[in-house]
Amino acid sequence: MNELFPCPFCGNDQPYFERLGDHRQSSIVVCGNCGCRMEANETDIHNGDAWNRRMLLSESCELLHSCLEWDNGGERDYQKIIDFLNRIKTD
Ligand SMILES: [Zn+2]
Repeated sequence: MNELFPCPFCGNDQPYFERLGDHRQSSIVVCGNCGCRMEANETDIHNGDAWNRRMLLSESCELLHSCLEWDNGGERDYQKIIDFLNRIKTD
């Protein structure tokens, strides 16, 4: 089971498992703030993987967008890029 990343839509940092997945049923993660909900076919240590991937996808899109803005004269936030890379780093 994973520690859940914040909600990709509203940033609520306390999403929770409504149900943990196992070989018979899917997992469900819910954001108590905006009400978004994600159901995935996950078991054991993989519970929460899909939710966390969704957050990383959202962040990488945002990051890419900020890099494109920089190329158009915006400001590049290096700390944001470093923080993101540290989060997705695997040992
Ligand atoms: Zn939310």
